[in-house]
Amino acid sequence: MDLIYRSTRNEAACFTASQAILKGLADDGGLFVPERIPALTKSMDELAKMSYQETAYEVMKQFLTDFTEEELKDCISRAYDEKFDTKEIAPIREADGAYYLELFHGATIAFKDMALSILPHLLITSARKNQVKNEIVILTATSGDTGKAALAGFADVPGTRIVVFYPKNGVSPIQEKQMVTQKGANTFVVGIRGNFDDAQTGVKKMFGDKALAEEMAQAGFQFSSANSINIGRLVPQVVYYVYAYAKLYGAGKLAKDERLNVVVPTGNFGNILAAYYAKLMGVPIGKLICASNDNKVLYDFFRTGTYDRNREFILTTSPSMDILISSNLERMLFELSGRDDRLVREYMSQLAEYGSYRVDSAIRTKLKKLFSAGYCDDQQTQAMIARMWNEKNYLIDPHTAVAFHVLEEYREETGDDTVTIAVSTASPFKFCGSVLDALGVKEHKTGLEILDQLTEVTGVPTPAPLARLKKRRRRFDNVVDKAAMKSCVLDFLK
Ligand SMILES: *Cc1c(COP(=O)(O)O)cnc(C)c1O
Repeated sequence: MDLIYRSTRNEAACFTASQAILKGLADDGGLFVPERIPALTKSMDELAKMSYQETAYEVMKQFLTDFTEEELKDCISRAYDEKFDTKEIAPIREADGAYYLELFHGATIAFKDMALSILPHLLITSARKNQVKNEIVILTATSGDTGKAALAGFADVPGTRIVVFYPKNGVSPIQEKQMVTQKGANTFVVGIRGNFDDAQTGVKKMFGDKALAEEMAQAGFQFSSANSINIGRLVPQVVYYVYAYAKLYGAGKLAKDERLNVVVPTGNFGNILAAYYAKLMGVPIGKLICASNDNKVLYDFFRTGTYDRNREFILTTSPSMDILISSNLERMLFELSGRDDRLVREYMSQLAEYGSYRVDSAIRTKLKKLFSAGYCDDQQTQAMIARMWNEKNYLIDPHTAVAFHVLEEYREETGDDTVTIAVSTASPFKFCGSVLDALGVKEHKTGLEILDQLTEVTGVPTPAPLARLKKRRRRFDNVVDKAAMKSCVLDFLK
């Protein structure tokens, strides 16, 4: 029997995993969730001996039950290959009393690669399984990391095209360079005059445009999303929590069934939700520690039980966490409410209408037991980067620094000395300016020279995917008004 996927807002609708991946979002606006979270079928002793790819198969086959063994193994081997600069794929480093799970060794050196390197393969396999003949057109709005990771994942994947919209003045120079030099005959990158929200709203409008969908279908195309609400992005993220536990256990750092806390720098709540799913699968995970930057909507939620996005949007030095609507929290609420689709629908309509909702006391009690939360401002972020470098000779990026700061506070407050893994989500070279500031270097080189500057100051080599950018030719220099996004897409597909 295949595992069935349902919407968090409607228990009645039923889909297979491949159908859910193709659709991305349910028609009622809800997110797809499996009818139950499957249990691991291998022991930790067996998992400890497995490679990343083998672990990925063990975990993903439990969720994507309508994929054949051959299909799934093929997707996995295409995704987790030499594009990663280490065979371990997700290596663990030890520094200052914690383990760091480094998720930035893929093609674009941010954690988005962990899922976006496999999503294209899951998607085209899903299309094949469901006799979809149309070419799949991925539309993405990005504030930096997702766009490049999606481009790298989909470039030259047959049967797909990808269009990425980014705010022309809203991404770092390195992030822009990464995108506009993207190779691949099926890729297209457009800057828009506006902010990330404008890009996002424009993309959502196209997804909701029935006439456009019709026009597309006649030309042999259909839209899909590489956004983190797609279950095809969440499932691959469960893998590295299973892998990390198994590796620490195998190395004797954890005794049998010993608990492991995790601290995750959080934005859209996808990464930390994957840790919760791993826990439900049977991995002995203890506290889930949710780390926010100054956009601390989640911290306030965990503390008060009220989710309230009515506040100023703050631009921080950890931009991938600058977010006020954490979409994947919806899946968490679904689980904690005892899978109450009616209640989730109610909360989400309050969020849409008033920008806030308050969860009931039963959910609050469960949240308190599972989670701890903290936040870290830009100054504290810089101080943490400097301290880790000066005292431990470990160079971390601002997002990872947020997580480690929150972990330190958590330990001070609770005295909890459970073994902990901090999730490290980006290479420091992606955020050279902030990292140099933190190290006390005031004058920054411009453009890509700043990569060499960070290497000169620290002696740490620039990751190859960024060093290569210097030789890359700019392929895209389209900048349009947000009103012209649709015609951009139509032109590209002609
Ligand atoms: C996307 C991202 C995050 C936030 O992850 P979520 O799954 O959205 O919570 C944190 N750090 C970096 C570097 C990211 O790119």
